Amino acid sequence: MAETAHQSLPSTKPIPFIDLQAQRARIGTRIDAAIAKVLAHGGFIMGPEVMELERRLAKHSGAKFVLSCSSGTDALVIPLMAKGVGHGDAVFVPSFTFTATAEVVALAGATPIFIDVHPDTFNLDPASLARGILTARRLGLKPRAVIPVDLFGQPADMDKINALCAKEGIWVLADAAQSYGARYKNIRVGALAEVTATSFYPSKPLGAYGDGGAVFTDDEDLYHRMTHIRVHGQGKNRNENVCVGLTARLDTIQAAVLLEKLDIFDDECAARQRIAERYHQRLGGAVITPKVRTDRSSVWAQYTIKSKVRDKIVSLLGAEKIPTSVFYPKPIHVQPAYRAFPQAEGGLPVTEALSREVVSLPMHPYLSEADQDRIVAAVQRAAS
Ligand SMILES: *Cc1c(COP(=O)(O)O)cnc(C)c1O
Repeated sequence: MAETAHQSLPSTKPIPFIDLQAQRARIGTRIDAAIAKVLAHGGFIMGPEVMELERRLAKHSGAKFVLSCSSGTDALVIPLMAKGVGHGDAVFVPSFTFTATAEVVALAGATPIFIDVHPDTFNLDPASLARGILTARRLGLKPRAVIPVDLFGQPADMDKINALCAKEGIWVLADAAQSYGARYKNIRVGALAEVTATSFYPSKPLGAYGDGGAVFTDDEDLYHRMTHIRVHGQGKNRNENVCVGLTARLDTIQAAVLLEKLDIFDDECAARQRIAERYHQRLGGAVITPKVRTDRSSVWAQYTIKSKVRDKIVSLLGAEKIPTSVFYPKPIHVQPAYRAFPQAEGGLPVTEALSREVVSLPMHPYLSEADQDRIVAAVQRAAS
């Protein structure tokens, strides 16, 4: 009887979109001890945990060099500066991404050229990239770099992008802010492009307790130039400035937090995968579920569905205290700060359609089956 009464009265307890407290219940004590250790040794800037994290991330990703830094945005801007990207250069970016992907190009003084994405993977469409390269030449800009984004956690079409770029003499800076931990043809993110940037913003799959990021590369010379840029262009000592740089170090406390989280990270990625599969099975008929190509995996930074009744799903779930997020309702190329920058010939029709149809559901490694069932039932009701 109690069971029936419970079922007829669905829970209306708010479900968190990302539950960082659930993770604290698992490793909070260890993280607090790691932070206390930093407080005791006092090496807040470039302390031993920073070097240890860089070593651990190199081992985990398979990249030769890892440079930790202050954010995912700085992880993108540092390699652009180190490569001397600037005025007169074209850098190709998707418009269906977080602002930082295009922002860093404009900050470096170069011109972002917006490229369309694939409707199934939400990632850079190599055919649109080829058209964008023509656009750059027609405008008298020098094609220099492309920043493919691994949106929502799935690596972009790296083989096709790398091959096209090698042919055109363009280097690849992978924006893996949402995808660290994913694999492409069994190679980990971090070792898939000449340079890879990731973010440790708290809500990313591998998140700190504040801002942070990292750059991955096999290029030793580039790595050394980036170490200078990270600290004001400092050379061998603090009285020598070899280039113009930034203050872009990762705090030791954040490195200590990340070291503890890295210990359970692969396990958390596996939990996200199980939850995604359960969503696929239960939501397939009602909405369009996200597609991951067979040669790669996703870390499910977001679980993003598509529906013609997206706005109805958002409002019905909201009324049942189930949070949703729309990434991204307004693509970058229509934003006031960016609409004057060029687009690949053929425009961005897929990006514009996606911005009206996508919605992301709660996703984190500790999402219970009961909460997931409540979310699924609400989506099915909204979409029917
Ligand atoms: C989060 C994010 C960034 C920026 O990372 P921050 O650490 O917030 O600076 C860049 N690109 C993408 C795709 C992101 O999702």
